[in-house]
Amino acid sequence: MNRFAEARFLRGAASVMQFPADQGFEVAFAGRSNAGKSSAINAILARRALARTGKTPGQTRLLNFFDLGGDRRLVDLPGYGYARVSDRERAAWGPLLEALRKRRCLRGLFLVVDARRGLSELDLALIEWADPAARPIHILLAKADKLARREAAAALREARERLQSAASVQLFSAPAGEGLPEAQQLLREWLGLRETGKDRG
Ligand code: GDP
Repeated sequence: MNRFAEARFLRGAASVMQFPADQGFEVAFAGRSNAGKSSAINAILARRALARTGKTPGQTRLLNFFDLGGDRRLVDLPGYGYARVSDRERAAWGPLLEALRKRRCLRGLFLVVDARRGLSELDLALIEWADPAARPIHILLAKADKLARREAAAALREARERLQSAASVQLFSAPAGEGLPEAQQLLREWLGLRETGKDRG
């Protein structure tokens, strides 16, 4: 059963006052601009164009909240690492992200990383910011289809070595569907939607 059939855009928040109430379950998605975050969100929710893909890098400037039904939400963080972001915008993000981090409903963070580039200093800073001790972090090494099998395996190994226990990690490809069931399962788990054999079907 596709539990995300009800997924819809809720709102973009440019200030903390626009955040939905801190209740229910929330999972955030972060990543460097162009890493493949929007494609990953669309693939995981099985929605073709819920999060916009292929836009100008760095264009997502707000925290975008998606309503998944039943007081479950997905939060799409602004893509980082794109130079053409004004100081003013950068300054506005700080308090937003800080407030997001404090939300009790935030149950986990997916971090999307281009498998060909590997983890950057910005990605590692984000992981530290998100506080792996406070909530689980899972890395999607996206665009894995652009790597040969052996390269993909090496990228996974290298990421595991760098992350140690700070985050879990997997290979992912939106168009090929690689790693999709694992990512969907983890999202369901974090959202308190874990299916047992009894519930299924
Ligand atoms: P975002 O900026 O992180 O949201 O990245 P997008 O999802 O918009 O993707 C950036 C570009 O990479 C787009 O042209 C996508 O079609 C492409 N892309 C994203 N994910 C994948 C993937 O898993 N495999 C391949 N081959 N291309 C991808």
